[in-house]
Amino acid sequence: MIPYKHDQETDFSKEENRKAYREAIEQVRKEFGKEYPLLIDGEEVHTERKLSSRNPANKEEVVGKVSMADKELAERAIQSAWKHFDTWRKWPAKSRAEILFKAAAIFRRRRHEFSAAMTVEAGKNYVEADADTAEAIDFLEYYGRQMIELDKGKPVLSRPDEHNEYFYQPMGVGFIIPPWNFPFAIMCGTTVAALVTGNTVLLKPSEKAPVISAKFVEVLREAGLPDGVLQFIPGDPKEIGDYIVDHPKIRFINFTGSRATGIRIFERAAKVQKGQKWLKRVVAEMGGKDTIIVDKDADVELAAQSIVSSAFGFSGQKCSACSRAVIHQDLYDQVLQRSVELTKELKVGDPAEYGTFVGPVIDDIQFNRIKEYLEIGKQEGKLMTGGEADDSKGYFIQPTIVADVDPEARIMQEEIFGPFVAFTKAKDFEELLEIANNTEYGLTGAIISRNREHLDRARRDFHVGNLYLNRGCTGSIVGYQPFGGFNMSGTDAKAGGPDYLLNFMEAKTVSEWF
Ligand code: GLU
Repeated sequence: MIPYKHDQETDFSKEENRKAYREAIEQVRKEFGKEYPLLIDGEEVHTERKLSSRNPANKEEVVGKVSMADKELAERAIQSAWKHFDTWRKWPAKSRAEILFKAAAIFRRRRHEFSAAMTVEAGKNYVEADADTAEAIDFLEYYGRQMIELDKGKPVLSRPDEHNEYFYQPMGVGFIIPPWNFPFAIMCGTTVAALVTGNTVLLKPSEKAPVISAKFVEVLREAGLPDGVLQFIPGDPKEIGDYIVDHPKIRFINFTGSRATGIRIFERAAKVQKGQKWLKRVVAEMGGKDTIIVDKDADVELAAQSIVSSAFGFSGQKCSACSRAVIHQDLYDQVLQRSVELTKELKVGDPAEYGTFVGPVIDDIQFNRIKEYLEIGKQEGKLMTGGEADDSKGYFIQPTIVADVDPEARIMQEEIFGPFVAFTKAKDFEELLEIANNTEYGLTGAIISRNREHLDRARRDFHVGNLYLNRGCTGSIVGYQPFGGFNMSGTDAKAGGPDYLLNFMEAKTVSEWF
């Protein structure tokens, strides 16, 4: 088998690639309004009630309609997943991995179609959507190989006339709750990690981007995933979320999303229910309030580029997004001014048009939330650019910079999840670091500096799960920058890292005397 390597992103400077992408958007548009079923016990189930997935750049457009599970269907899914667990867990790890590799091959062949689906369903521009698809492919390729390795177990010592073994086994039925912001990559990664390790799962995609998941499920089936191993149960989280989380037959939960929901799941899962034989394991990847600090003699251009791309990529809707820029006082004005210039150059609009940098935000709920923060921002600091919102056609927010903000201000402390960055000034390196660490989160962070001692200090004392030196703070790559955060950012499971699959397995020791 060839070693794992990150899937190359598409070069959109070539007209042939842009053309292929435009055609993929047209193809996806032809499928608008299509209905997608649930998948329970290997059967496609169509329900009367449906989730309508809309294009956030044009709210009139219904991308697709997805059937919705209720409690009864969720119950059936749990029962079925247990029924099939006993067979699936005995499949050779390599055979399970081959399904991932085959799915990756199909996605590579249909790459633009999947990216284009995200352009219209989630508002990702060409580059962001293409990176999302590449990451999904990476998860398949990486976790498949990791599983083959892990299946060998780990060495333990033995004594004369004694043979000891240490290996990993799957846990049972898991509940996978992915986010809408990486509707392909994270949805795919969290699902296939649980599957390749031999578990059976219930996948409840985000109600804000369910179509891409329905298409993903079709491909997994085409790649040979047996019936009953993956139960696809989109639905209203308020209706079925707690029911499944609380269920005594759920073994583990893998959640990516907001801090409030993550905490809720963590607390509920901790309660041992009647008839429950285990302690549920929870992986929760939650929010961030991520900072880029700019040191005294940093490269101003690099600093401004890093801040602007990390703050406004995918309209700031990444938990890794830079929402705080903390700048040494000597460079503050220069970095701020250059960041404002760069931000003004960004093209805001429909991501289906090549060249758009900032697309819409995902829906009316997010739009209204961010709008409120725009107002708060105007009170808490000086509006430098942006500050406007328009939802007449889609949910558009101008990329916004607010300067001279107090480190304790709400816009410096609360996760906004939109194209919004607050700037603040610090007098020396100590204060830069102090402000960066002054948050309940701890996901990503970056330092722009030429000072090796300061870079080393940051390495040790900048308290984030993903620290980047002299670059932006988004864009982790599977197998290269394992991703996950500290404190209220979650359980630091490190998706795309060498230990990730262990979250889905339990270790067993077997000792024999001869
Ligand atoms: N892994 C992504 C990045 O590094 C962020 C994932 C997320 O927002 O949930 O930018």
